[in-house]
Amino acid sequence: MNITSNISLKPYNTFGMDVTAKYFAAVKSVEDIQDVLLDPVCINHEKIILGGGSNVLFTSNIEALIIKNEIPGIELLNQDEEHVYIKVGAGVNWHQFVMYCIENNYSGVENLALIPGNIGASPMQNIGAYGVEIKDVFHSLEAVSMQDKNLVTFHHKDCAFDYRESVFKNKYKNQFIITSVTYRLNKTPHYNISYGAIGAELEKMNVQDVSIQSIAKAVMNIRTSKLPDPKIIGNAGSFFKNPEISSTHFNNLKKYFPDIVGYSKSDDTVKVAAGWLIEQCGWKGYREGDAGCYDKQSLVLVNYGHAKGIDIFSLSEKIMESVHQKFDIFLHREVNIF
Ligand SMILES: Cc1cc2nc3c(=O)[nH]c(=O)nc-3n(C[C@H](O)[C@H](O)[C@H](O)COP(=O)(O)OP(=O)(O)OC[C@H]3O[C@@H](n4cnc5c(N)ncnc54)[C@H](O)[C@@H]3O)c2cc1C
Repeated sequence: MNITSNISLKPYNTFGMDVTAKYFAAVKSVEDIQDVLLDPVCINHEKIILGGGSNVLFTSNIEALIIKNEIPGIELLNQDEEHVYIKVGAGVNWHQFVMYCIENNYSGVENLALIPGNIGASPMQNIGAYGVEIKDVFHSLEAVSMQDKNLVTFHHKDCAFDYRESVFKNKYKNQFIITSVTYRLNKTPHYNISYGAIGAELEKMNVQDVSIQSIAKAVMNIRTSKLPDPKIIGNAGSFFKNPEISSTHFNNLKKYFPDIVGYSKSDDTVKVAAGWLIEQCGWKGYREGDAGCYDKQSLVLVNYGHAKGIDIFSLSEKIMESVHQKFDIFLHREVNIF
């Protein structure tokens, strides 16, 4: 396997951070990964797995070995009356897979159209949007153990999926390289348009008969109108997760902030809209040099050109501190910091 040195990571992260990786290897198969893991550079250095780089913030040059996962392939594995099982290489672009499903009339991922990044990170992050999460269509995945280099299968129950969380971000952090994911999709569509903005967009598009095609189109329209295109303004999507607080805390806050936005969960907690909290603290549209809080969506921190990772990180600290002071709520970052 070819491991190169001193590579600029600028093309490999959507924040556009111009940092250098001391070591870099692109892998295209399970065997490539097993080879890299035997290399002395790999044995003697920390390792960071990279997909599309759309959920990472590099705050300095990287001394570790970057293993960029480029495993290709979309394969129809199996089917029964109701479902198809599709195995996808970890290096396949997520939206390309969504488009493949739509062309073939497989439903389940249409609400997740246009999410940047690759297949490999989708279960790790349990990506989600517009009322759907990857856990809803996940069947299993294969991953190489960084310890013994074996290929291991994880089923749904092994992954401990939660809101933007999985076992790969916690218990097994930095222990497995995901090589493929198998999704279970529906042959007969189950539409999920309960998320307000989708219904309104379908109406605006004058759609009479809802289909997975029209839902994906509506989602793409909403996303392009609200979110900055990383090719133009560097960003990694939502920088923070929506915090969950007790219903007592929420009800107390509601007395002082009647407009606070929250969704009750079944376990007596409330998920609060982090964007609303950040906006109330006056950050929406704020800019400090080239680091900023996006003016159309305060959950998104942006690099207007030459911000450094540390500038974005410091801004996130200030935002977290002010939200804590005003609402007694701790925000947690969704983006992976390196
Ligand atoms: C404009 C924009 C909008 C976004 N909207 C959404 C959204 O609506 N919903 C949502 O959930 N996310 C959203 N995101 C975040 C991002 O798209 C997802 O988190 C995506 O899954 C990241 O994929 P990636 O391949 O770019 O991962 P990377 O950024 O490369 O990696 C993310 C993390 O996963 C690890 N990782 C990556 N690949 C593997 C692998 N094969 N094996 C093990 N670990 C791995 C990395 O080490 C890192 O810790 C958005 C981002 C942007 C820029």
